[in-house]
Amino acid sequence: MSNVSKILTPKKSVLDISAYVPGKSRVPDGVKLHKLSSNETPLGPSPKALEAFAGAGADLDKYPDGSSFALREAIAEVHGLNVANIICSNGSDEILGLLANAYLEPGDEAIYTEHGFLVYRIAILTAGATPVVVPETDYRADVDAILAHVTPKTKLVYLANPNNPTGTYLPIDEVKRLHEGLPEYVLLVIDAAYAEYVRRNDYESGIEMVSANKNVVMTRTFSKIFGLAGLRIGWAYAPLDVIDAMDRIRGPFNVNAAAIAAGTAAIRDRTHVSKSVDHNEEWLNWITEALGNLGLETTPSVGNFVLIHFPKTRGETAADADQFLTSRGYVLRAVTGYGLPNALRMTIGSEEANRGVIEALKDFLGASDNV
Ligand SMILES: *Cc1c(COP(=O)(O)O)cnc(C)c1O
Repeated sequence: MSNVSKILTPKKSVLDISAYVPGKSRVPDGVKLHKLSSNETPLGPSPKALEAFAGAGADLDKYPDGSSFALREAIAEVHGLNVANIICSNGSDEILGLLANAYLEPGDEAIYTEHGFLVYRIAILTAGATPVVVPETDYRADVDAILAHVTPKTKLVYLANPNNPTGTYLPIDEVKRLHEGLPEYVLLVIDAAYAEYVRRNDYESGIEMVSANKNVVMTRTFSKIFGLAGLRIGWAYAPLDVIDAMDRIRGPFNVNAAAIAAGTAAIRDRTHVSKSVDHNEEWLNWITEALGNLGLETTPSVGNFVLIHFPKTRGETAADADQFLTSRGYVLRAVTGYGLPNALRMTIGSEEANRGVIEALKDFLGASDNV
């Protein structure tokens, strides 16, 4: 036996991982829960997706189509893409991991930014590679800083655009400048989980960049605007070589039959998507203004959530606010794990939830002013 240690241990990089802590969903007994902690949509899924989901119940004894063809075809049709360049997954988190496992070896480096999505770190360490965390400027990815951290060992750059939990984004010209500065052996992964929500003329999700290059991938999800987080569906648009690498290592039936059916119906229901975008636009603006009126600073967001800052100087901490809001049934997201101990992330919810949070915060701030 060559193993020196006689004790069973996971590989070292696995022990460096802090397990992902999902948004909370529990409130005191008897209090109505408003879950605003995981960026789910308050509008729920398309009724057509629910119908398709129910229909899938008739065939549970059969394996799903391992290539998720119907879903890929629907995605291709809606976005005008080539079916062969699309891969589907059990949530887009799976793709983030597949890319790391396909491209990173121990000794390699992979970059993400200071307040970037924490799944990147987990994916990099799982692959045994070294995470390189690059500072942001004003809670936004900084292209020059990222490029300054590229070394001969860099293999992957994860960029959430827009980013979670900050809600900030890079205009497409900046993303292109980032790509142009990367060596050809580096894969740029653009995580566009919130793309559907963005209404900015200078934003693009990265589809054209994927088409034009061999080292760019764009990932998307059905968990946010499509309201199907519980079914776990993600997809990526990628060059054929990258698709081929992921196909070799993914589970042969990584997307289940109910997910394929519901996702296919959901993406074709464009009316439901635009309803969700409109709701978000209206209430993101309302919430941002209402928080400002309470004297709370927010980071300008283009997603379906907003980062609320609680200045230490006022004596009310984000943790106090979190506790107070939870006691009223409003569960926001603590983001200490993202290096933001003085902030909470709030998902834009229903009208009732949004108004309720503002009322509760009024009470919270009033109460602490009296202390
Ligand atoms: C929510 C989210 C995802 C989506 O994850 P799924 O696995 O598809 O549910 C991906 N990236 C970011 C930045 C997110 O916030």
